[in-house]
Amino acid sequence: MRDTVVLHPGLGVGHLVPTLELARLFLRRGLAVTVLLVEPPGTPTPAAARAAVANNPSIHFHTLPLPATDAAAAAAEEVEANGVDGKSSPPARDPFAVLHRANAPLRDYLRSALPSVRALVLDMFCVDALDVAAGLGVPAYLFYTSGATSLAVSLHLPHAQAALGARSFGDVVVGDGAPLRFPGVPPFRPTELPTAALDRDNALYRKFLRAFERIPESRGILVNTFEWLEATAVAALRDGACVPGRPTPPVYCVGPLVSGAGEVNNSDKRHACLEWLDAQPEKSVVFLCFGSMGSFPKKQLEAIAIGLEASGQRFLWVVRNPRRDDGASLVANDHQQPEPDLDELLPEGFLERTGGRGLVVKSWAPQAEVLRHGATGAFVTHCGWNSTLEGVTAGVPLLCWPLYAEQRVNKVFIVEEARLGVEMAGYDGETAVAVEEVESKVRWVMGSEGGRALRERAEVAKEKAMEALEQGGTSHNDLLEFLRGFDGDASH
Ligand code: UDP
Repeated sequence: MRDTVVLHPGLGVGHLVPTLELARLFLRRGLAVTVLLVEPPGTPTPAAARAAVANNPSIHFHTLPLPATDAAAAAAEEVEANGVDGKSSPPARDPFAVLHRANAPLRDYLRSALPSVRALVLDMFCVDALDVAAGLGVPAYLFYTSGATSLAVSLHLPHAQAALGARSFGDVVVGDGAPLRFPGVPPFRPTELPTAALDRDNALYRKFLRAFERIPESRGILVNTFEWLEATAVAALRDGACVPGRPTPPVYCVGPLVSGAGEVNNSDKRHACLEWLDAQPEKSVVFLCFGSMGSFPKKQLEAIAIGLEASGQRFLWVVRNPRRDDGASLVANDHQQPEPDLDELLPEGFLERTGGRGLVVKSWAPQAEVLRHGATGAFVTHCGWNSTLEGVTAGVPLLCWPLYAEQRVNKVFIVEEARLGVEMAGYDGETAVAVEEVESKVRWVMGSEGGRALRERAEVAKEKAMEALEQGGTSHNDLLEFLRGFDGDASH
């Protein structure tokens, strides 16, 4: 039986995408890979999971059957989760609770597969499975699907929270207003933290803190980044500065793990928006897309539309239906939502007036391919880490419009440290990003000297990303180092 690595991703597309890329790295090194799937109803995972299974015949997928839970428990999870991010609703349920229930079937599965299992690689949301691994003597590692800067924040957060005593980060905002200083991270405002972290008593925040505290119990942390990109954070993590008083396990930067990098899609089933891009001039199109869950109220969609029209630039815009309540929520947590009715959502005549130079795509576009297309010139992004890396590896400058989770910290990194993007002012306001801001930032990135400088830096980052993955590159070496750790393990 071939040596097997078992990967246990969190819920949601943003976790599954890099996990599959990591799986491919292991396959290329001659290992067998099992990816575990958990399919609670109501999360965005099932459709993505079905596609993953269909498109990856070399990977063995195993679905963990969740023990039946009574309706009351499910409802309680729902309520508890109401505020992954305070303002915005989370993916359907509390991911920690759902994945905790997967521990019993995980134990059964690992027992049955034990002789061949060399390592269990856990998503941050599955960190409680460290106990399952320990019980069976299976070496367990963490795979952090966001970047090193976000990891530096996460690992330091329990310490920083403890230093606040009975106060919350929300009190710090109201208090002296001084920026937070975390090792390896540019100074940032407390409001750049996930919103739940502003209230020390928020139930989900307590779960995050517990998970962050447990990450260093793993044998090592694989991070979806490359050393050049996040050198400051990587150094702080490796120096142990982020987790005072405890050892930090080895940190392996094995990225960028980006969907389909280097692949050319020759299939006949090319998405229509790629055909449209074929007809546009080189680097002329602004691409707007807000992750697998981001959505806006109708008012904000209208402001984007008017701003795009006024900018005079070419654009490709993925529009998702607003949440049913059409309130201030930023996350569409229901993938069963109907397709958006563009005539109803966008200003009258907008589609006709911009038809020659703009394309609106309903709900979903093949983002990674769009970004790699030669006609794409800039990316308005919610700063999800996969999106960020897809932009970086395509050499495209970023206009940052963070929405939820760790995206504001990612934005701080992109703007302040990497200088690969600028922010869309107003993203964090109670109201919205204004028409004028959309118009002027889009014009700026496409036509100004500052935009040109950003594009040049983005090109350098793209080159550095490729170098990192090549033979002898830092990410290639970190992967080999990680695999050598298996051989040093006498028990397996
Ligand atoms: N994505 C896509 N098409 C879309 C929206 C999203 O292909 O219309 C992909 C995107 O390329 C990325 C993932 O979904 O790989 C989103 O992950 P990210 O970490 O950026 O954000 P999240 O969805 O987790 O907030």
